[in-house]
Amino acid sequence: MSQLLNNGEISSVDLTRAHLDRISEVDGQVKAFLFVDHDGALAQAELVDAKRRSGENLSPLAGVPLALKDVMTQRGIPTTCGSKMLEGWRPPYDSTVVTKLRSADVVILGKTNCDEFAMGSSTENSAYFPTRNPWDLTRIPGGSGGGSSASLASYEAPLAIGTDTGGSIRQPAAVTGTVGVKPTYGGVSRYGLVAFSSSLDQAGPCARTVLDVAYLHEAIAGHDPLDSTSINAPVPPIVAAAKDGNVKGMKIGVIKELQGDGYQPGVLKLFNQSLEELAKLGAEIVEVSCKYFDYALAAYYLIAPSECSSNLARFDAMRYGLRIGEGSAEEVMNSTRSAGFGKEVKRRIILGTYALSSGYYDAYYGSAQKVRTLISQDFKDAFEKVDVLVSPTAPTTAFKIGEKSNDPIAMYLNDIATIPTNLAGVCGMSLPSGLAEEDGLPAGFQIMAGAMKDDRLYKVGAALESALTKKWGGGILGKAPKLVAK
Ligand code: GLN
Repeated sequence: MSQLLNNGEISSVDLTRAHLDRISEVDGQVKAFLFVDHDGALAQAELVDAKRRSGENLSPLAGVPLALKDVMTQRGIPTTCGSKMLEGWRPPYDSTVVTKLRSADVVILGKTNCDEFAMGSSTENSAYFPTRNPWDLTRIPGGSGGGSSASLASYEAPLAIGTDTGGSIRQPAAVTGTVGVKPTYGGVSRYGLVAFSSSLDQAGPCARTVLDVAYLHEAIAGHDPLDSTSINAPVPPIVAAAKDGNVKGMKIGVIKELQGDGYQPGVLKLFNQSLEELAKLGAEIVEVSCKYFDYALAAYYLIAPSECSSNLARFDAMRYGLRIGEGSAEEVMNSTRSAGFGKEVKRRIILGTYALSSGYYDAYYGSAQKVRTLISQDFKDAFEKVDVLVSPTAPTTAFKIGEKSNDPIAMYLNDIATIPTNLAGVCGMSLPSGLAEEDGLPAGFQIMAGAMKDDRLYKVGAALESALTKKWGGGILGKAPKLVAK
């Protein structure tokens, strides 16, 4: 698209209109968007076209449309976080990610659906509606960023922004056959990302190919004085690594603890075939044990709810969005929070408040933080032996809508392979490994690298993508989703 724009074969207005038309045509079925900024997107596209006509030097993504996860603020545009609590709220400021997208002249099409406050793995926890998987409309598109992943897989948008606290970029990418990266913690500013679990949250790029993700990653990364956890160091050479894609001599560690029981056989088969491809390209494949990873899920479900119980205290009916009832401040807060939050958000606030309460703090939150340190140490030890670590991204392909909605533990288990990365603050990518033999649905291959070694994800990802494109023929998966219910 960028080349067509640069060659003057199409305008950004054409490209934007084509995507808006596609959204009107298919989003009634896919339901990826909570808000489509029809006029705003076209106005922005016109501005970019004018800049191009006047010969301005433009960024590689100038004029290309993008879908923004609805937990990111964009000035004047509804930002709901998939919650009734923020219905009707229009933020008075842009997140830093949006500021950067604007300075790269990316055209923002609208806001994508997600699990309420990004808590979930299926987008069924959205207070508005579930989003559907373009490969089979009766299945989930992953979560929490299912709107972003579904918009890519259904060709409603070529680029999307996600956020990943425990897997919400990578697991949706895996189950929709798209590519997503959780950058190193602090690599992309969190300013304007509505906080769920501040020590884990990280915004990141999503697209259909590794190179597209690389361009988007470079556009949004970098130090931001408005986020005190933002890393003040140069952005790793991401696009160069994606163009290089040479894994000869690289050491790739397969994590012993992230396979076997609970993993779908077809997903494991594709994972092993991908390893063979990487070996053929000259990478050395070794097995690595990260023994504390078995405790990652338990630690995450104490740390994330604890931070969420504190972060979500700001939704007190006084400052943002919803206000219900009359009487004292306590009464209004009570009725507003009872009505405004959904079941999963309430569950986590209660869990987190309990885990932080005096008398239980050391036993729960304190222990979880110790486990977190051990997991970081596992990564550190592993990265002394290997350049990257790999695993399946999610244990299964997309499940049916409704299948796990009444079983929180089954839902939480989706993130078993993605959570360790967040706990340690390192980076991870998911890219498609193929279509599983049991159900013909996409599976994900996860690559993990150390802090600020994001370029390694792209090196390995690009190598595997080009090998698999040859293997499956015609696009990395050999097919495009058909947007039908199976
Ligand atoms: N599915 C995980 C959870 O429910 C991760 C969510 C996320 O990364 N935002 O917390």
